[in-house]
Amino acid sequence: MSLKFSHSAIIVLFLCSFPAILADEEEDPTIKTMEDFSGYPIHEPHSSFQNTVSSLSVDTQSLQKQIDELSTFSDTPAPSVTRILYSDKDVLARRFIKNLMGLSGLSVREDAIGNIFGRWEGYNPDLSAVGTGSHIDAIPYSGKYDGVVGVLGAIEAINVLKRSGFKPKRSLEVILFTSEEPTRFGISCLGSRLMAGSKALANALKTTVDGQNISFFDAAQSAGYTKDEGDLSSVFLEKGSYSAFVELHIEQGPILEDEGISIGIVTAIAAPASIKVDFQGNGGHAGAVLMPNRNDVGLAAAELALAVERYVLESGSIDTVGTVGILELHPGAINSIPSKSHLEIDTRDIDEERRNIVIEKIHQSAITIASKRGANLSEFKIVNQDPPALSDKSILEAMEASSKELNLTHKFMISRAYHDSLFMARVSPMGMIFIPCYKGYSHKPEEYASSQDISNGVKVLALTLAKLSLQ
Ligand SMILES: [Zn+2]
Repeated sequence: MSLKFSHSAIIVLFLCSFPAILADEEEDPTIKTMEDFSGYPIHEPHSSFQNTVSSLSVDTQSLQKQIDELSTFSDTPAPSVTRILYSDKDVLARRFIKNLMGLSGLSVREDAIGNIFGRWEGYNPDLSAVGTGSHIDAIPYSGKYDGVVGVLGAIEAINVLKRSGFKPKRSLEVILFTSEEPTRFGISCLGSRLMAGSKALANALKTTVDGQNISFFDAAQSAGYTKDEGDLSSVFLEKGSYSAFVELHIEQGPILEDEGISIGIVTAIAAPASIKVDFQGNGGHAGAVLMPNRNDVGLAAAELALAVERYVLESGSIDTVGTVGILELHPGAINSIPSKSHLEIDTRDIDEERRNIVIEKIHQSAITIASKRGANLSEFKIVNQDPPALSDKSILEAMEASSKELNLTHKFMISRAYHDSLFMARVSPMGMIFIPCYKGYSHKPEEYASSQDISNGVKVLALTLAKLSLQ
């Protein structure tokens, strides 16, 4: 990369950004690269800026090959991908990632549950690191881009920076999070939730089993983890471990593609909550029991499902959503009045209080419906009630500046799906970069992101990491 700074421009730049190292200007080999990465257009001549940006080149072909190869570690045939936590295929996929991290010159370590870290040490290693990463587990019959783009893309972002001659001040660290998907143990974002210091989860895992009655610890040990059984406190991150965390991810929605925009800059991640509800009644013969004598809990469930929709709409905000994704009736025969009904309700909002009001209304409604129908509300369990996460202002600025410098169209948006970033936000300033995906498809084999869009995302990530590393 050629430099077109005049000497005085360099001095001005360093007075703005790095007064502490001004004295070493002549000797310090990092100066050249820091000049290139440090500032926003306002600080420097436009031409040099273009040089910086054009020096960031993504090896799109290799990256696509890695995405394709990783997708072959699957328990179902292509094009679908199924990669369940601690399965043989998951272990192989992890080995693949660790190998790539090593090839990129990162020093690799793993914690007790298999969160994997690949570190590129900065020239000021005492400063807290800048983290980036995502997950590679895949729900049954899903696609090959969800999460993967944020792991392989992060490793490639490091390669991009290395090829450009950049030297990080803060260390840069790629993280592969264990089990973002809840498939095996019913717990979403298991790795990041634990990293964020959830003692409740650390305790719950002692008695957690999967659908085959295999305990979490047995499963983890079969994959080579949790050697000192029971104590997961070593997974908790110390506050301040990261000065920033940025996750690259496919949008999993149609907005960017519909609007022809390259980069989504996530301002907030909606707060998810999930609830399990059980009603119990007397059941009975569908012909013999007359209507006044019934306590049909199928209808109780139906009423509650409609109530969920009503309360969500009543919030008055487009950001409030609610879904009854599971509704089961027992015994499930056409000629039998349901004697048990089971609902699972998901509700989310970027405003925690508004979401909690919806949950409270659903609870009151479940009580009222049960008493009106002479049924028993045998369970109303809030499974999780997580707070939303707001992106950090300085990370937003870095992502926006990077998009602009790379001449990529961008828009600010909300992530309505949750990600590991939701939990990283508890221990670090957080930001997320979205790229378009075909028709917004995700969690199915048709999931697709173009090489060009992935490459754009990797460039924005690389430039953002560079800026944050120098802050
Ligand atoms: Zn994901």
